[in-house]
Amino acid sequence: MVRLFSHRRRPAWAGSFPLERLPRAAGAAVPPTGSPAAPFELEAPQRPGSLRNVLRDYIDLMDRMRNGPVAPAVAPIPDSPLERSRHLQGGCYYLDASMAATCRVPEAARLTVPVTNVSLAEEQARTYAPGAADNRMAENVVAEGREAWARSAVEEERCEHPFALVILTEYPRDPRADEPGADWILDMQAARAALRGAEVGAVMANYLRMLGFDARLHTVTAAELDLDALALAAGLAEQRDGGSGNPFVGRRFGLVAVSTTLALEDAGPLAAGSGSARGFKWWLGWGGARPGYAGEPYRGRDYHLGRYPMERVKRVAEPTTLVDEQAVPRVPKRHDMFIRAAMGDLGEKAQRELKGFRMITKSPFGHAMVPVLGGMVPLQYGETAPERTPGYDDPKRNAELVKAALYYLGADMVGICRVPDYAWYSHDTDGSPIEPYHRYAIVILIDQGYETMEGASGDDWISGAQSMRAYMRAQLLGGVVGSQIRRLGYGARGHSVMDQDVLHIPLILNSGLGELSRIGELVLNPFVGPRFKSGIITTDLPLAVDQPIDFGLQDFCNKCSKCARECPCAAIPFGDKIMFNGYEMWKPDVEKCARYRITNAAGSMCGRCMKTCPWNIEGVLAERPFLWSAMHLPFTRGWIAALDDRVGNGRINPLKKWWWDLDSDENGQVIEARRTNVRELVFRAPMGASEQKLGCYPPDLAPTFDAAAAAPPDRKAAYARYQAALSAAEYRARKNSSFNADDSHGTTS
Ligand code: SF4
Ligand code: SF4
Repeated sequence: MVRLFSHRRRPAWAGSFPLERLPRAAGAAVPPTGSPAAPFELEAPQRPGSLRNVLRDYIDLMDRMRNGPVAPAVAPIPDSPLERSRHLQGGCYYLDASMAATCRVPEAARLTVPVTNVSLAEEQARTYAPGAADNRMAENVVAEGREAWARSAVEEERCEHPFALVILTEYPRDPRADEPGADWILDMQAARAALRGAEVGAVMANYLRMLGFDARLHTVTAAELDLDALALAAGLAEQRDGGSGNPFVGRRFGLVAVSTTLALEDAGPLAAGSGSARGFKWWLGWGGARPGYAGEPYRGRDYHLGRYPMERVKRVAEPTTLVDEQAVPRVPKRHDMFIRAAMGDLGEKAQRELKGFRMITKSPFGHAMVPVLGGMVPLQYGETAPERTPGYDDPKRNAELVKAALYYLGADMVGICRVPDYAWYSHDTDGSPIEPYHRYAIVILIDQGYETMEGASGDDWISGAQSMRAYMRAQLLGGVVGSQIRRLGYGARGHSVMDQDVLHIPLILNSGLGELSRIGELVLNPFVGPRFKSGIITTDLPLAVDQPIDFGLQDFCNKCSKCARECPCAAIPFGDKIMFNGYEMWKPDVEKCARYRITNAAGSMCGRCMKTCPWNIEGVLAERPFLWSAMHLPFTRGWIAALDDRVGNGRINPLKKWWWDLDSDENGQVIEARRTNVRELVFRAPMGASEQKLGCYPPDLAPTFDAAAAAPPDRKAAYARYQAALSAAEYRARKNSSFNADDSHGTTS
């Protein structure tokens, strides 16, 4: 969908639908909507191929987080109920809720007979693979996930919370039975909304409890409050003949709610006939709201194609940067700079921040996603059905099924490739060898969110949560589709930041989702820019693969160095690409970057390079000519990069800042942040390429795969190796004159 009007002046708390323009009937009573209907039917035994049959574990995990421990002290947050409500709404929109509103819980909404998810009665001991349990970076995440599974959440008692946050998930277009890849996703709109709504609600309930307020999640599978009555009370629905409906999406939505002791604004019910008050402005998208003319998501576009016109991007046989496959070494997980930090290689401070995952959990919104992330780890793998279901021999059809399913569930971009051996880690964190075990990789990209990125510096208190949100969604969607593949009798394993056996970058590149950018170890996509995180499913299911793409990024990045200029620690090269481990790339100094992200005291993590890159596209019509031009007309690229600065792209837009600057102390108590990174564009490069000191660590400068003791990096040697690195042209020339590629693992090649 291309919009006519920018949403830059629309505050983040207002969301995509102009609910704030609808008339309210203050003080109107909410009539009881009746007790909940028949129990929600999640599974679809009559449709054995439906994804509904694999959602149970995920719904159960979210329901287990409906209650939980409340922080002993209340966080320093504003007193104003309106400000609090807007903050929570902003959080829900950030997590991709379609609509969110708050209300006082009316008596009519308190159920006398609760909706009970009986599968929660027992504790669930989930099995974590040794790699996850031993991953020192993620051990706290795993612990919080285990704790979530151990909760027995059958709740009989009445809910007495006075306030509620009500969250609406709209249905996208109904899949047509005759469209490619539709078989897995027919007849599951309510189940999809239940899954996605429960994810948002679980995070918000965790968050409120971390702020020191009791909170309970109510879903279609477990609730003590009537969700329909709450939607009426919060003005997300109006009474109509034969039930209730939403002015913008009719009856096509699912609901969850989070009740709480935190005093919130009572939005009030809608006035009668408010649907007719939507008006022409809404239809046009005036003021940046989602235009009515666009209709529901995926109207006019098949699901397996995805939202973005990737089919129009030029495909090529090889990635646009040289990858000398014979020269790419397989590396152990111990070489990952974050694992190195957790092992103490970067000193005590970095180790402290990483071991408890504190660089994320110190900010409560980021922390609220951690139990979800940790809880989903054991769902990444599992038993494969002993018999293969017939009908899955056609790689093209299988790829369409996988893509349609992932796009329908909410992926932003999906690509498929073969997994080259060098994309597998050589050794796990416990030192055990990893042998390649699957042939194909399904790569899922999740946009970190344009609007929130607009409001952020890139390295402030939302930055860590931005990564976690995208990782969480990728893990959720990848986990669901991986479970489906295993159910059909084919091996499949999800790989997430919490537990993975593959490196993501070569797979993103090979599956045609982007080109390597100046940011270095980051692939950039023409439609979501560098602003995404990835999740991977590896599998034996036969799949048609995608080809790499060429949209002119190598030339664009040659003419632009905004990310290098804006990086707070000068970790991105101003100079040219070099050969590193068989890859041609702008090699960043990962030690500098990792140190900055892990120990950032005025924020949580960092993604400033992503935030300031000109390839962040809002999606309005006016941007189209520039995007087309950047992709097809080389002589305009330098000019477009300069114009991006001229119009102030990459600055902080305060209207999009919905979050609070919250940190936590050494006891885990939430406190007001003492410092916050608030940055203006610097415009002028702080140094030239020849003055910049960068280091790199080829395998022979990194610790051995089983090094248990801290192995501090040798900075001097790292500088020397960077200096001695060859350009791609020199590398090719040497190879052509019978250079021995086996000696090429270091940067001297
Ligand atoms: Fe620099 Fe931050 Fe990007 Fe790392 S994440 S390269 S520190 S801007
Ligand atoms: Fe390339 Fe410029 Fe984006 Fe950096 S900021 S990745 S140089 S386009």
